[in-house]
Amino acid sequence: MQKGNIGVTTENIFPIIKKFLYSDHEIFLRELVSNAVDATQKLKTYASKGDFKGEMGDLTVKVNVGKETITISDRGIGMTAEEIDKYINQIAFSGANDFLDKYKEDANAIIGHFGLGFYSAFMVAKKVEIVTKSYQEGAQAVKWTCDGSPEFTLENIEKEDRGTDIILYIDDDCKEFLEESRISTLLNKYCRFLPIPVAFGKKKDWKDGKQVETDEDNVINDSEPLWTKKPMELKDEDYKKFYRDLYPMADEPLFWIHLNVDYPFNLTGVLYFPKIKSNIELQKNKIQLYCNQVFVTDSVEGIVPDFLTLLHGVIDSPDIPLNVSRSYLQSDSNVKKISTYITKKVSDRLQSIFKNDRKDFEGKWDDLKIFIHYGMLTQEDFYEKANKFALMKDTDGNYYTYEEYKTLIKDNQTDKDGNLIYLYSNNLDEQYSYIEAAKNKGYNVLLMDGQLDVALVSMLEQKLEKCRFTRVDSDVVDRLIAKDEPKGDELAPEKKDILSSVFRSQLPQMKKVEFNVEAQAMGENATPIMITQSEYMRRMKEMANIQAGMSFYGEMSDMFNVVLNSDHKLVKQVLNDTNEACSAELLPIETSIATLNFEQSELKKKQEGKKYDEIPQAEKDALSDVEKKIAEEKGKKDAVLGKYAGGNKVIRQLVDLALLQNNMLKGEALNNFIKRSIELI
Ligand code: ADP
Repeated sequence: MQKGNIGVTTENIFPIIKKFLYSDHEIFLRELVSNAVDATQKLKTYASKGDFKGEMGDLTVKVNVGKETITISDRGIGMTAEEIDKYINQIAFSGANDFLDKYKEDANAIIGHFGLGFYSAFMVAKKVEIVTKSYQEGAQAVKWTCDGSPEFTLENIEKEDRGTDIILYIDDDCKEFLEESRISTLLNKYCRFLPIPVAFGKKKDWKDGKQVETDEDNVINDSEPLWTKKPMELKDEDYKKFYRDLYPMADEPLFWIHLNVDYPFNLTGVLYFPKIKSNIELQKNKIQLYCNQVFVTDSVEGIVPDFLTLLHGVIDSPDIPLNVSRSYLQSDSNVKKISTYITKKVSDRLQSIFKNDRKDFEGKWDDLKIFIHYGMLTQEDFYEKANKFALMKDTDGNYYTYEEYKTLIKDNQTDKDGNLIYLYSNNLDEQYSYIEAAKNKGYNVLLMDGQLDVALVSMLEQKLEKCRFTRVDSDVVDRLIAKDEPKGDELAPEKKDILSSVFRSQLPQMKKVEFNVEAQAMGENATPIMITQSEYMRRMKEMANIQAGMSFYGEMSDMFNVVLNSDHKLVKQVLNDTNEACSAELLPIETSIATLNFEQSELKKKQEGKKYDEIPQAEKDALSDVEKKIAEEKGKKDAVLGKYAGGNKVIRQLVDLALLQNNMLKGEALNNFIKRSIELI
């Protein structure tokens, strides 16, 4: 028997491995099973080249869990005593501590850097045995044992079959790995698509109400996964089936892209555009990254462009330096090329579906647009391609390319300054009446109700020339697109004042909501009352919700414009009725306001042209006194009008209808409205 020290400079390297790699303990299984697969593939290669002439037999790699051990067995090339010495004992460990310190966050980095694959066994085992016999004729089988200290033993043994058994004596604090279900989960995660069959124990059967083992190996992997096959040989159903295997709970994918490159780097894979039902799904189902069919990770950030991380599927590349830290990865030139390549592939595929089958593309657009918009927003080169096939959808469900839409609205929706005005709605139900009004005027209204549309609107305003996006409820229809058109007859200012006052008095008091009431002639067929919110303010608030550092806008009140149509017969009637009912009571107040107004203008005249310091205090006081009195009188006037309005069902009904249309009529107010409506019937 031979005894010796493993070529590690640090006495206690194993505790270090164990400690630093704590979070990733489970990868030992991936490392050991893929070593077994590698050894098996090497044997196949030797056989194909004629260097191995013996029988191949069953090459299945076997994983078995005992009471205290996990055993991984293969029938690959095995190792001679010299090879164990070279590959297992002499691991180059220069400056191990420094390195471990630097990479303690990233277990993959350490393992890859040192070819430490095999030693990851010590993350879970207190003792490891290698029982192995080389494929070479007349080879002597050997057993290597190590208990986690740098000392090992190596002895000759009897072993009938070629290949290697790795036996792990599981540590007391790692007993979880002796649970069948745990190992089964890990094999499914890491080994599911390994290129050599891997069996975990035997298949089980139900017999007399009990589960019993059969003779058949329980193979856990698909050794020829879809992405390794030629696209020509595959049918749609194959792609769909593979997708179901990967994501059993997901809906059928919209479509897929089979990636296959061998120059200047190697990459294969299949990317699916998923049909997304919820955000949770987006976060759960991810692209899986493989390296020669060994699962590596499902966090592919930095390898594929951000927007494509929303896709599903598999990427397999031996050329992505997987065992390095993420920051290194992002600066790697191969990775950059891969990212560019995938982006191009995706846009080419979208372009070709759009060209060859526009109907199909339109049918999928609503599900697709989140990916495309995300890409356009974050990736300049993708925008340049996508703006040829990205669609706009109007409120009637028609789809247009950007170019087509521009042509469609150019004549009717250009304002007096030559800006093209894109009208849009983000809620068909809530903005129904505004959309109808715009359509009646011959405008087209886009439906922009996607999660990214707020950001998209800002971007398109910058990218498309001389254009603005205006939400259809941001103003009354006549003012949505400013044109040089003759206006209707406007009311006299006093009458406008009275109208605003009576309606204002019936608007509810709401937290962080302010109303500005105005009367305007909009033609007798337009609605009598309308609530709008300025595009600018609303957008600022929307941005505040999604962007840090803009909370100032978020804190501000919502400002709404209540626009009364003075041409409408109900509004006219309100004005007449108010005048009739209140003029007697208002007369003395108005007389007094007129007198005060006169006094105020006289005082102002006197003070005109003087510096503030030159005005005598008495005069300053007199002016502020008059101003106070005017405000008081106006208050009285509002009180009279308000009192009248409170008893005028038409006013209250109109106000409530406008609120209702904007989803602002709630609780008791809603209840009162319903009661009043019934009375009016
Ligand atoms: P890596 O696999 O990255 O080279 P490992 O530490 O996992 O590093 O393995 C070191 C070497 O030990 C391998 O390159 C291989 O030559 C040998 N080896 C490990 N496991 C086996 C096995 N099951 N059969 C044959 N040789 C093996």
